[in-house]
Amino acid sequence: MSSTNVSSLQLNAMRNYYESGATKLFDFRKQQLRLLKEAILKYEHEINNALYTDLKKSAEETYATETGLVLADINMALKNLYHWMKPAYAKTNLLNFPSSSKILHDPKGVVLIISPWNYPLQLLLIPLVGAIAGGNCIVLKPSELASATANVVEKIISEIFSGEYIKVYQGEGNEVVPALINSFRFDHIFYTGSIAVGKIIYQLAAKDLIPVTLELGGKSPAVVEDDADIKTSAQRIVFGKFANAGQTCIAPDYLLVHTDIIEKFIIELKKAIKNFYGEDAKQSYDYGKIINEKRFDTLVNYLNDGEKIIGGKYDRSKLFIEPTVLKNISIDSSIMKEEIFGPILPIFSFSNMEEALAIIKKNENPLAFYLFTSGKKKENKWLEKVAFGGGCVNNAIWHFSNTHLPFGGIGNSGIGAYHGKHSFYTFTHAKPVMKTPSWFDPAIKYPPFKGKLKLFKKLIR
Ligand code: NAD
Repeated sequence: MSSTNVSSLQLNAMRNYYESGATKLFDFRKQQLRLLKEAILKYEHEINNALYTDLKKSAEETYATETGLVLADINMALKNLYHWMKPAYAKTNLLNFPSSSKILHDPKGVVLIISPWNYPLQLLLIPLVGAIAGGNCIVLKPSELASATANVVEKIISEIFSGEYIKVYQGEGNEVVPALINSFRFDHIFYTGSIAVGKIIYQLAAKDLIPVTLELGGKSPAVVEDDADIKTSAQRIVFGKFANAGQTCIAPDYLLVHTDIIEKFIIELKKAIKNFYGEDAKQSYDYGKIINEKRFDTLVNYLNDGEKIIGGKYDRSKLFIEPTVLKNISIDSSIMKEEIFGPILPIFSFSNMEEALAIIKKNENPLAFYLFTSGKKKENKWLEKVAFGGGCVNNAIWHFSNTHLPFGGIGNSGIGAYHGKHSFYTFTHAKPVMKTPSWFDPAIKYPPFKGKLKLFKKLIR
């Protein structure tokens, strides 16, 4: 099923197809979105099986965190495409009287979408929805580490779309991606994955000045203030952290809990883990597995970085690591320097905001930030103090599922954003046009300018 051979002939055929203008038509875009939706529904069972094979995701979790999110984004695009595509009226300043102005939304052209393995369906297909809505031709590069899902996606895409419109290239990222970018000038690259590879992509794109969207990772903190609802906060953090066995880019990476409530909070954490995944999480229908041995070994090493207060068991043959909470961790240990990306949750106490901020500052610009408090003043202060990609107050990870919100990072955690209309804007160029009638052409606008300074100062301000 794999098609690792990058062919510039095929890519040039995509360019020609794009230049034909077929993909730019409103009806065409709508039809392709409908086809994608129908195919996802038709192959839902195969998608579920693939996600189970790759990550041991249940059908319910697959729907809530993968398929359902893609369908919601398609539905939003179908509903709003006409308005998104419509030229936007813009005001015109006095200097340019009697001109009129508008903004056209041009497709970018032929775009490349590269995705990781942790949510292998939606992190590939949600950007695809935006790229189709934007009127582009699209190359998809799924992660080789979630190969079952990559195969189903390739099957669906090649069944419903022609290869000159949308094409899947599978294979080792460090071979296929440079081969693609070096053999063809893409008009946009949309990358989701690690910071390290994000830097490689940025460099590959730079030589041809290709615009990029980089959806990267980082260490996302969750802060629990002394006035938080302890039980609800614990439940929401446990779900956000241990869904997909912690392999979520926006999972709370570590916890900062106010000293006054930390003991009670740990009791609620324990209860929530047991309620969600039972006495033995290995047997749980709702608990996933680690993607591969390499990641498993890295994660198990982190267990030595602190004192286990919840969980800590693991089984390499099943790629299983129990939901685990660690305390007494050195801020300089590797678990606090790298993105954990697994079911291990370090917990720290703090007695004032400055203390907690000093820890957050060690890994600046997190992709997500979660605050648990019932105080409006505290909320405002925290939101003002921390620079983060996106986040929640009194919740964790679910902001991702709100198609009305832009999703993306800041600084180390990424460049650009997508979801819903923001995906449309990512995959289009805002092309401003000013139109000036000929009936009014005052001499003031032309040289000689001598003596016109006073008038210019009146007109231009
Ligand atoms: P990764 O960077 O290893 O791989 C992502 C993609 O890049 C894959 O398709 C892979 O084939 C390709 N790739 C790998 N090495 C490459 C190279 N040398 N040159 C070019 N392409 C290469 O990431 P991953 O391990 O699959 O995913 C985990 C990371 O992704 C975590 O850091 C996580 O935080 C981040 N992530 C971010 C988001 C987000 O929305 N911001 C979402 C999910 C995951």
